[in-house]
Amino acid sequence: MRLVALAGGVGAARFLRGLVRVVDPAELTVVINTGDDREFYGVHVSPDLDIVIYTLAGRVDQEKGYGLEGDRFSVVDALADLGHETWFRLGDLDLATALHRSLRLREGAGLAEITNEITRAYGVGVRVLPMSEDPAPTFVELSDGSRAHFEEYLARDGAPDDVAGVDLTAAEAARPGPGVLEAIRDAEVILVCPSNPVVSIGPILAVAGVRAAIDEGDAPVVGISPIISGAPVKGPADRLLRGIGVEVSARGVAGHYADFLDGIVIDQRDAALRTDVEALGIACAVTETWMRSPEIAASLAKTSLDLAAAVRSTR
Ligand code: GDP
Repeated sequence: MRLVALAGGVGAARFLRGLVRVVDPAELTVVINTGDDREFYGVHVSPDLDIVIYTLAGRVDQEKGYGLEGDRFSVVDALADLGHETWFRLGDLDLATALHRSLRLREGAGLAEITNEITRAYGVGVRVLPMSEDPAPTFVELSDGSRAHFEEYLARDGAPDDVAGVDLTAAEAARPGPGVLEAIRDAEVILVCPSNPVVSIGPILAVAGVRAAIDEGDAPVVGISPIISGAPVKGPADRLLRGIGVEVSARGVAGHYADFLDGIVIDQRDAALRTDVEALGIACAVTETWMRSPEIAASLAKTSLDLAAAVRSTR
């Protein structure tokens, strides 16, 4: 089965770690948000690409959900001593990934090719594609009129609540990365990972041609809600959803995705929302979605694929 997953970072990675337990990793293509990419310390950091690769390799720092297990921070600490701002805490081994990416970019390689190199070096058998090779930074706009790159908003400023909007114009102007549209058009199932709908999935959908490719193909599109009991498991999805006027709930996420989503898996704690979701014309499955273990993630992945199969069988 040809499977495509649209993915951000931590939430997506946890889900994908389960998905590869129930499907052949060689059948899976993951299209990843690069709206969080930014240069730090002179190197190109792609947070979501790296989180997914490290997690699928079993090397991620499980507690933080990003970075590498057991990594040291000698370089950023030394940079701090030299007077640099070091609010982006990049580990030494993590820095090597970003340094490799930068050196290869300077040699003229594309981000997709470099991502493939990193994926193979980490022994990951899944196809990992950046949504675009063009710069596509996401900016968060605040109610005081200021704006910040998403990583500045999150890591430097601590994700303040007064979000007035999100600027995805760079993603809208970006060309899709090599293989992205083809993979989406040829997919038999498209999964929308439990990622931040605004700043992880939003930028992927904004890239020129992606929405049309989803509409052109005949794959059922099934999402997993990143919101449980009206709150994100982790991160600022609540502030960003509110900032763009979307209710912070599984129902809100379903409504936000309604024009392309066929089905959504919501948490058992939100079972009461099922009728409202179905009233949007979206098929709904209810299960445990808090992925405290790879086993729960695998079971969630199975439920998502079953829902996709059920949607297909009613066509
Ligand atoms: P980021 O770019 O690293 O923030 O990663 P994502 O956008 O992929 O993930 C952030 C989203 O993942 C947040 O909205 C979380 O609520 C969601 N998330 C994280 N862990 C879980 C989980 O165990 N279950 C569900 N349903 N969502 C999760």
